[in-house]
Amino acid sequence: MDVSAVLSQLGVESSSFESGPLSVHTPIDGSVLGHVTPHNARDVQAAVAAADQAFRALRELPAPKRGELIRVFGAELRANKALLAELVSVESGKIRQEALGEVQEMIDICDFAVGLSRQLYGLTIASERAQHRMQEQWHPLGPVAVISAFNFPVAVWAWNFTLAIVCGNPVVWKPSEKTPLCALACQALWERAAGRASVGPLSPRALSQVLLGGRDVGELLANDPRIALVSATGSTAMGRALSPKVAARFGRVLLELGGNNAMIVTPSADSKLAIRATLFSAVGTAGQRCTSLRRLFLHESIHDSVVEQLTRAYADLKIGSPLLPDTLVGPLIDGGSYERMQAALTAAREQGGKLIIGGTRVLADQYPQAFYVQPAIVAMAHQTEIVCQETFAPILYTLPYRTLDEAIDLHNAVEQGLSSSIFTTDIREAEQFLSARGSDCGIANVNIGPSGAEIGGAFGGEKATGGGRESGSDSWRSYMRRVTNTINYGNELPLAQGIRFAD
Ligand code: NAD
Repeated sequence: MDVSAVLSQLGVESSSFESGPLSVHTPIDGSVLGHVTPHNARDVQAAVAAADQAFRALRELPAPKRGELIRVFGAELRANKALLAELVSVESGKIRQEALGEVQEMIDICDFAVGLSRQLYGLTIASERAQHRMQEQWHPLGPVAVISAFNFPVAVWAWNFTLAIVCGNPVVWKPSEKTPLCALACQALWERAAGRASVGPLSPRALSQVLLGGRDVGELLANDPRIALVSATGSTAMGRALSPKVAARFGRVLLELGGNNAMIVTPSADSKLAIRATLFSAVGTAGQRCTSLRRLFLHESIHDSVVEQLTRAYADLKIGSPLLPDTLVGPLIDGGSYERMQAALTAAREQGGKLIIGGTRVLADQYPQAFYVQPAIVAMAHQTEIVCQETFAPILYTLPYRTLDEAIDLHNAVEQGLSSSIFTTDIREAEQFLSARGSDCGIANVNIGPSGAEIGGAFGGEKATGGGRESGSDSWRSYMRRVTNTINYGNELPLAQGIRFAD
């Protein structure tokens, strides 16, 4: 598969992907797309020093002017949406529709960040002292490191990058070692766009930098005290290893880690909607979304009929190259992912699960170097150990329940807390699920699946998902530091709490 034409149209210089010790493969047929050179410790030092230097200038640029940079970048993305989406499909294996959606998310967050650049509000607070005023200001934080996963190779960076820039912070990005070409393309589009904007003495290159490599590069960024915030997206294991390093130097982290997302379908649910939502949430991106549906709690009165309808829908799924227009399920990212899926299915069977459909490798004759699978449904009588783990592949566990209280308890009885949903037409059930004794996730939906968030809301989850929030709402606050000011405009010096001292 030749992606060099796409890369060169996106502005990536051929020297950056034609030679180097790290081969980049497409999950579509396993062929080599290019070769890149990982960065070393010296490169990391230089990149962080450049970001630190750029921070001093960027924090002085008024926020609406920083927003102008992102406005121009958004226009560049609009003009290159189809091309970038093609690269996303080829490098990550995502079907075209989802790849276009991912680039649209980048465009949407650009629009959001431009508006935000005029809304970085602080509060004015009533002082207890006469002729005093209190206020909050939000200032730029410092250089931000973004570490990202393979499954959203462009959008996750854009969520962080656009907000970080309007908040006044340069970004150093370490993308997944499985998707470096998407990162090179984003950087090229940014440089082209920012070159057209007026940034005074600021170099667009220093505002955004890409460092290629594996966990070693991520660790160097985590340990560097000049990096004010490490925003890391990936597995819970990655967050567990990285977070203490940043904490040891009192840096900030924004963690977006693994999910084990569930849906509860109650007897009153519109089952047609529930089945469509299940299909998209469980098999979209071949089950490789952090918000993918993995646990389906079905009331015992509807369990068998929903499983039967789902099985029929699964049997009709079109599996194949993500570049073909009617494909719904593309490949897994690599052989390791396939092996983890098989191990999970074996464990599920050993733990009493019944494989209803799928799980097997398909299209191996046509694509011997790639890993396509028939998405699996496994009926479980109980929520066993394997069900409590995130397997990053299309396995959907179905579980029967009797009462909503029991379903919510089971729903919350996993270590992850990312996304959740309930299908019901009973307002009491819906409100219970959304209440303080309902879902314990960062995202809780009614009558839509757990997957496919909009950028306007804060995105992220609790517990082992890491607690971070990025994208919309007031997530921008993670990228700024808050200063509380008290201003005395009188002729006296009263102390707070009425304390008298040497007066
Ligand atoms: P991964 O954890 O293997 O890698 C993610 C990134 O972290 C990569 O860039 C990798 O090089 C880096 N990394 C790994 N170990 C590190 C360490 N010790 N120090 C510093 N950097 C390190 O994840 P993956 O396989 O690319 O992606 C799948 C996982 O990501 C799933 O668990 C999925 O749920 C999660 N994910 C979460 C979200 C979210 O928003 N919550 C979004 C996408 C993916």
